[in-house]
Amino acid sequence: MNSNKITIAIDGYSSSGKSTMAKQLAKNIGYRYIDSGAMYRAVTLYGMKNGIVSPEGNVNIPTLIKILPEISIDFHLDGDKQYTMLNGENVENEIRTLQVSNCVSPVAAIPEVRHALVRMQREMGKSKGIVMDGRDIGTVVFPDAEMKVFCDASAEKRAERRYKELTDKGENVTYEDVLANVVKRDHIDETRDESPLRCAQDAVRLDNSGMTIEEQNKWLIDLFHKITNQK
Ligand code: C5P
Repeated sequence: MNSNKITIAIDGYSSSGKSTMAKQLAKNIGYRYIDSGAMYRAVTLYGMKNGIVSPEGNVNIPTLIKILPEISIDFHLDGDKQYTMLNGENVENEIRTLQVSNCVSPVAAIPEVRHALVRMQREMGKSKGIVMDGRDIGTVVFPDAEMKVFCDASAEKRAERRYKELTDKGENVTYEDVLANVVKRDHIDETRDESPLRCAQDAVRLDNSGMTIEEQNKWLIDLFHKITNQK
């Protein structure tokens, strides 16, 4: 049984390193990892491919809402790697481009899109034993999660990390474009009406601007042991 497993919610700003640490924690403790941002990215990609979301991020909202039931999202595990599957197709690389990043926040601000994805996320987490990262996991998706973390780092540091990630993959982007995207997404995410980006009252805050990946992984697993030993 999963009775001793808990639910772990890791929220925070764009490119604050939450996915890296959430993924590593899930691996260390044998939990399932879900990247909820990948789900918003997959819906955005589907909209772009079908002419419902323009490259400038203008969304035909009624049409997008109508076609939501056509969209199925799943994750495929292959060893250490996890791929996002959109209607059975591996879209892991496509959803990470700056083009999709530039359009995802307006799509994620649409209440009907959020309701559909939150339903799927709750279904994925119903047996606990899950680490999910995003913007509203501790506040909306799993308000009763036993462990909640809220991650932040300076916008410059976050843009630096994202720029390196994209250029390592061969994307032709400038640091300034990436910084502008990070700042813009944060603003849309924080000011939308439907489940805006907020730190849950009972979340532990982490500013990882000056931390290495190893240091933040250790910080997170120490917190996990502290919380599970208290139970
Ligand atoms: O985590 P990531 O940066 O890939 O998320 C992409 C976008 O998806 C965010 O900028 C945000 O607009 C949206 N998102 C959200 N709620 C979540 C996860 C992501 O609104 N739980």
